[in-house]
Amino acid sequence: MSIPGQLNPSPRILLGPGPSDAHPRVLSVMSTPLMGHLDPQFLTMMNEVQDMLRQAFITKNHLTFPISATGMAGMETCMVNLLEPGDKIIVCVKGFFGVRMFEIAQRTGAEVIRLDAPWGSVFDVNQLRDVLTKVRPKVLAIVHAETSTGAWQPLEEVGKLCHEFDTLLLTDAVTSLGCIPVKLDEWGVDAAFSCTQKGLSCPPGLSPVTFSPRAVEAITSRKTKVQSWYLDMGMVQKYWESDRHYHHTAPITMIYAIREGLRLLLEEGLEARWARHQLHHKAIKAGLAALGLDYTADPKHQLPQLNAVKIPAGVDDLTVRKKLLNDFGIEIGGGLGDFKGKVWRIGIMGHNSRANNVLLVLGALEQCLTSVGCKIAPGAGVAAANAAYAG
Ligand SMILES: *Cc1c(COP(=O)(O)O)cnc(C)c1O
Repeated sequence: MSIPGQLNPSPRILLGPGPSDAHPRVLSVMSTPLMGHLDPQFLTMMNEVQDMLRQAFITKNHLTFPISATGMAGMETCMVNLLEPGDKIIVCVKGFFGVRMFEIAQRTGAEVIRLDAPWGSVFDVNQLRDVLTKVRPKVLAIVHAETSTGAWQPLEEVGKLCHEFDTLLLTDAVTSLGCIPVKLDEWGVDAAFSCTQKGLSCPPGLSPVTFSPRAVEAITSRKTKVQSWYLDMGMVQKYWESDRHYHHTAPITMIYAIREGLRLLLEEGLEARWARHQLHHKAIKAGLAALGLDYTADPKHQLPQLNAVKIPAGVDDLTVRKKLLNDFGIEIGGGLGDFKGKVWRIGIMGHNSRANNVLLVLGALEQCLTSVGCKIAPGAGVAAANAAYAG
């Protein structure tokens, strides 16, 4: 029998689509002792987390808490609670995560209408109005920050439109929370889910979800039981709310983590957090352009926290990403689905949205690209980023 050696992971800088690096304060609270999940002090922490999540989502939604699993579980939670067999849902697909929503919706027994737009683009409200008029679905699902393409879907008008048709708006806010504005009540979003490992600078492990009173009404008036026992909001709610009914053991350490991640967000302030992401995006964008890398998303709808760029012709995806990882300890993301082998995804999210990372990844990328034959003026990327910071 052999026993592996003591864990000793190499230092990494996680500049992909997630996980992003956890903030040192988050890692620190995670090494504090456990408490029981029904300990009065822990129950207080649960309330604090719920309260801070409402502030982060800018919502008064009572039904707001983290699901004890990753972002995909939040997606599944929303789908299985809002949909019953026979219900109609429109799923907007303009990237990999739209496809995921489509696939999960299909498993609920609902009638799923898939609306496609080119990857890298966003949906226009008029286009959505036409389909809503024809279909009149119970739910319309759309990804806010499409991590596979870097496209930022505007939602300001979509909620109002859905309400005209008595349709619930379900939004994937996995890559948006803690990076760009997420104003659920103002926009009329009825259900949303996120994660901990992107904008909130925590490890992966929780998925904050929130449901508007209209969504709660749809859930409570269901004729059939939610197909998933674990993700049944009615039951999880009894644990997170007044009854404190044992449902499952909350991942204590992850609750410490999200509590700290949310404290960091609110201490900085939402507006300041969003502005910081814009600032470092401006710099990395200038730098990537100087390295000859073009964005995949529509320039009018570019996410600041996720910079998806086309791999130059003749450059091998894995060769460059391996060199970045081995020589610099930097992880960036490859492409998903249609973009596999064609796109790199550079995430500067949450705690990682800093000048250190922008300058580091640009300098390192220059070396890696030069090593595979790209012609780049020495220091071009870093110089362009610094010019952007100076301007
Ligand atoms: C990361 C991501 C998810 C999935 O979250 P996991 O935590 O990996 O389960 C869902 N939607 C979008 C848009 C994402 O970027």
